[in-house]
Amino acid sequence: MKKRIVFATGNAGKMKEIRRILADMGMEILSMKEAGIRTDIAEDGSTYEENALIKARSVAAAGGFDGSPDTIVLADDSGLEIDYLGGEPGIRSARYLGEETSYRVKNAAILERLKGVSEEERTARFVCAIAAVLPGGKELTTRAAVEGRIGWEERGENGFGYDPIFYVPEFDRTTAELTEEEKNQISHRGKALKLMKEELRKHENIGCE
Ligand code: IMP
Repeated sequence: MKKRIVFATGNAGKMKEIRRILADMGMEILSMKEAGIRTDIAEDGSTYEENALIKARSVAAAGGFDGSPDTIVLADDSGLEIDYLGGEPGIRSARYLGEETSYRVKNAAILERLKGVSEEERTARFVCAIAAVLPGGKELTTRAAVEGRIGWEERGENGFGYDPIFYVPEFDRTTAELTEEEKNQISHRGKALKLMKEELRKHENIGCE
């Protein structure tokens, strides 16, 4: 039977990136919604890895996939760490200023908190951990980051979340000004997913077509 991946996220922006990055695995890629799973997940871990594992385990259990031989559940947890703010918003990135608050407001608030802060002190990174629950229950995690700086204003329409204020020096653009392909090459999620693909190939011989 063809193996499939169910990705534990309700974020459409993330799902679009993930589909593209995993496209070469020769597997069916489903969001949890497409797999018919609705579950409220409490992200109460203290690290990105813990939160990603909580999400993956919860979807594996809700879908009855823990014992399924054909389904791998993947989940990510990610965040933006701003050095000048002591690493905030970090693992609380989605909840920063309230889960329902728009990113226009969140991004404007961050720019305001960094008003007058020099370019050298505006260093930041996006961090992403990916967790996998494999058929049989084995678990794997990977992590990656992309280094950048908080810009001076919002720029760009692509991506989602904090992308318009995350400036990448090597491109001289924000991640919201990169094409999907450019962002996936350098992004925390792109790199952590590539590491996970290697792990899956090594451990499970999965996605080798
Ligand atoms: P999570 O969905 O619980 O992992 O929360 C991660 C949050 O971090 C997202 O809701 C975004 O606010 C932010 N974030 C993570 N990755 C990115 C990205 O690639 N671009 C912009 N914001 C991101």
